[in-house]
Amino acid sequence: MVVGVPKEIKNNESRVGMTPAGVFELVKNNHTVYVQSGAGEGSGFFNQDYQKAGAIILDTIGQVYAISDMIVKVKEPIAEEYKLVQKGQIVFTYFHFASSEALTRAMIDSKAICIAYETVEDEDGTLPLLTPMSEVAGRMAIQQGAKYLEKPVKGRGVLLGGVPGVAPGRVLVLGAGTVGIQAAKMAAGLGAHVTILDVNMKRLRYVNDIMPNHVVTEFSNEFNIRKHIKTHDLIIGGVLLKGAKAPNLITKDMLKEMHPGAVIVDVAVDQGGCVETTKPTTHEDPIYIIDDVVHYCVANMPGAVPYTSTMALTNVTLPYVVKLANKGWQSACNSDKSLAKGLNIVEGEVVYKEITEAFNWEP
Ligand code: NAD
Repeated sequence: MVVGVPKEIKNNESRVGMTPAGVFELVKNNHTVYVQSGAGEGSGFFNQDYQKAGAIILDTIGQVYAISDMIVKVKEPIAEEYKLVQKGQIVFTYFHFASSEALTRAMIDSKAICIAYETVEDEDGTLPLLTPMSEVAGRMAIQQGAKYLEKPVKGRGVLLGGVPGVAPGRVLVLGAGTVGIQAAKMAAGLGAHVTILDVNMKRLRYVNDIMPNHVVTEFSNEFNIRKHIKTHDLIIGGVLLKGAKAPNLITKDMLKEMHPGAVIVDVAVDQGGCVETTKPTTHEDPIYIIDDVVHYCVANMPGAVPYTSTMALTNVTLPYVVKLANKGWQSACNSDKSLAKGLNIVEGEVVYKEITEAFNWEP
């Protein structure tokens, strides 16, 4: 199969859909890989790295789309790319169709085979191609939180780890899922006192088993949240209700109860956030302050660490890419139920019912 890796053209996206290691694996399996010149630069992979692994470099995005049986990328095609997608071409990437009717219609019109990373689903209901980005965001949340607790950037002036003779900072983590556990682990590693809340007792038992004693689990309810926000310096929002908007666990009135200069990192911002005052921000302008509480609500946190994010993402996408290239999409999806869940639009037909539901289209 001919596989193409275009450069991402979405604003501020430095990740790339394939590393030289992926190229090497595909070439070993007798496939041809075309990489757009400069596609990996933002993640630290250069043309010569891809060439050494066996790729052929093409100058333009148009050339990559025109020649490839399968396109492997990171973000959904943006408007300039719609016309480049070919009939019968496999496009394997994050699509998030339900958030864009224009994209959905464009991909229907293209008659391509659109396989979305975010809906590839394992038998236990987990989403293996989303997990690594939550891991990145969870760990990053503590780095960012620690930074914005510093006084020169309007924080409370607390060092999370404390020092001998001074108590450590206190971190409250809402949600003990992938984001929450990674955040708790990082905070605990810095020596902070950590409280982690969830409504799922299985998750709390797991956290209690694996974390050190200065990570304390409690059940998530309004009473406990109101109690803890008064005494914590950094709050991480890592709550998810599958397919729904995140619940507002911290309402605006509660901000007045918090320490001035406390920081909220609402990782769940991409699902509306679990704080009433959350609104999406960007890496260029990541914070704003309401009632003396610093809010960090960047919707694409992994974009700031493209090397790590690209590696983490391609580690999990590559086995599927190789399977699609070796078997073709029909046979690959017939033999792999997880991958088959990734099929969203096939040759002009929407095959993932949540998309039609999102737009109230007739089934
Ligand atoms: P997850 O499903 O692994 O974990 C979510 C947890 O929230 C679950 O354990 C669930 O029981 C818990 N929860 C549900 N209701 C709760 C409540 N009322 N109180 C406390 N906990 C509750 O999800 P995840 O992978 O950790 O992702 C969390 C959020 O982070 C998602 O919205 C995801 O899209 C987002 N995310 C954002 C970025 C970013 O760049 N901002 C990056 C990755 C993920």
